[in-house]
Amino acid sequence: MMRIIGLTGGIGSGKSTVSEYIREKGIKTIDADEISRNLTKKDGAALPAIRKFFGEQVFFEDGTLNRKALGNIVFSDRDKLKLLESCTTEVVDRIIRKELAELKENDFNGVVVLDIPLLFEGGDQVLCDETWVVTCSYDIKVERLLKRDNTTLEAVKNRMANQMSDEDKIKLATYIIDNSFSLDYLYTQIELLLLKNNCI
Ligand code: ADP
Repeated sequence: MMRIIGLTGGIGSGKSTVSEYIREKGIKTIDADEISRNLTKKDGAALPAIRKFFGEQVFFEDGTLNRKALGNIVFSDRDKLKLLESCTTEVVDRIIRKELAELKENDFNGVVVLDIPLLFEGGDQVLCDETWVVTCSYDIKVERLLKRDNTTLEAVKNRMANQMSDEDKIKLATYIIDNSFSLDYLYTQIELLLLKNNCI
């Protein structure tokens, strides 16, 4: 039997840290961000639509996507973010569903973790047997993002503003992973959830 776990969390929550830990355990994961990056790499399938909506200003001369320029546009403008998501999210969703269908066809037995930043926003929780939300306070997120991305407070706040609130995510979650403390504490919670699912 295949068991599908949806993993999500707002930017700076520690979702990537959790998903990396799970991957290192050898557990099958499907990473929506990775699929999305593939769609937007050179000659990727999403680039024509992005060029149409955002123009040459978000491309380098060699035709690769200028992620920083695009990020600056979409993370301070909710409508533009929605537009970008329409270029990528639907395709990412289709690819994820296809991968799951293939695993099922091949009688995959065990847990698959779907690592999807916009899990609830896109309604993908319906694909999952259970969902995990990684969370920590706003101030801790800001502090960790400033350190990780070496950027300005304003840019960090803009990126955080255009997301579903943690309160709403928590309401929809099966389990909450509290990342307010040490990495050890984070990893212990993951271990317990994996044990519950007979993964380790
Ligand atoms: P997300 O994928 O949710 O945006 P990340 O997993 O990249 O978040 O975490 C944000 C930053 O905080 C990263 O630099 C990560 O190494 C760091 N981090 C994550 N969890 C902790 C923790 N418990 N203690 C200290 N730093 C952490």
